[in-house]
Amino acid sequence: MSNAKIWLSSPHMGGNELKYIQSAFDENWVAPMGSNVNLFEKKLEEYLEENKYITALSTGTAAVHLALNVLGVKAGDEVICQTMTFSASANPIVYLGAKPIFVDSESDTWNMSPQILEDAIKDRIALGIKPKAIIVVHLYGMPAKIEEILKIANKYEIPLIEDAAESLGSSYKNQKCGTFGVLGVLSFNGNKIITTSGGGALVCTTKEQQSKALFLATQARDSAPHYQHSEIGFNYRLSNISASIGCGQMEVLEERILQRRKNFKFYFDLFNNKPGITMLVEPTSDFYSNHWLSAITIDEKITGFSSEDLCTKFHESNIESRPLWKPMHLQPVFADAPYYGGNIAENLFKKGLCLPSGSNLTDENRNRIKKVIESCFQLEKSK
Ligand SMILES: *Cc1c(COP(=O)(O)O)cnc(C)c1O
Repeated sequence: MSNAKIWLSSPHMGGNELKYIQSAFDENWVAPMGSNVNLFEKKLEEYLEENKYITALSTGTAAVHLALNVLGVKAGDEVICQTMTFSASANPIVYLGAKPIFVDSESDTWNMSPQILEDAIKDRIALGIKPKAIIVVHLYGMPAKIEEILKIANKYEIPLIEDAAESLGSSYKNQKCGTFGVLGVLSFNGNKIITTSGGGALVCTTKEQQSKALFLATQARDSAPHYQHSEIGFNYRLSNISASIGCGQMEVLEERILQRRKNFKFYFDLFNNKPGITMLVEPTSDFYSNHWLSAITIDEKITGFSSEDLCTKFHESNIESRPLWKPMHLQPVFADAPYYGGNIAENLFKKGLCLPSGSNLTDENRNRIKKVIESCFQLEKSK
């Protein structure tokens, strides 16, 4: 049996990516614009439905940054953000000189708690500053309790940004993640469910928002024969070569989702009769996860081994796994940021592990993974 490295989530090409790249070379659009950028945006708009306007960008982080810009977030403003996320959800708040306010998760989806969100909003308003935006995340592909969160956002008239970087293809009540908020964020980084090597997109509700995003993403050039600027812009457009990869990847997105869901099923069956293991599962049939990453928490008191032990065992077998994302309010860089909630996210981090979840995992790979997991349980029994 080969001992080749099994990655947490590695790029998985469909086959037609090179054809799209060839067409970009044939047209000599080797630039951050071109027909495949337009085509990629069109494919994404069709996929997401809901009549959204997509702007393809160089990264998902750029999309979060532009979303905040489009909403007019400025220095001194406050922005509420889910604490249980990757730093890219929160960093752009600081790029703008605004202040992140972090909110804990609930234990069903591991995403933002609607209850704590409302508590946080009320408290910030009582303190005299109404938050300028809310950033909710569908972590590991699992849709957040988006209906409840939207209701609260609407009640207090605070625009919702949906970080769907990990959840392209996930949906709630048959509506795709990324289309619920005023603005949505997608990522096509190398580890995501589809990749453009590096890339992202901003999902806008109105044509005006999209025009503004495009203007800012292309150095904020006023209409004049010379370069004329009355605002600070960015160079955030997606390369036509990267977009070519994206066009090929869109052809296999549906297949990639089914492959990731198959991995989830494999782990679900494996852990089904193992006490002490809790998987991140869809709470009801309203939730449809792309299961970008399958994730578990381990109760060491019951299993006798910790998530760290399992991670080490995987590592010894040349298999990559990773602790759950460390909550933002526990990050040294955000030590001064206000935080609302208890220890749900913190406990998830302490006990959690992301399992190898690539759409390119083979049966042989899954067997190697299964052996490591079963060896942990057997070791415990024999102690
Ligand atoms: C990957 C990711 C991003 C940022 O995307 P990049 O394309 O890597 O810049 C933002 N938020 C979350 C939750 C992510 O996982």
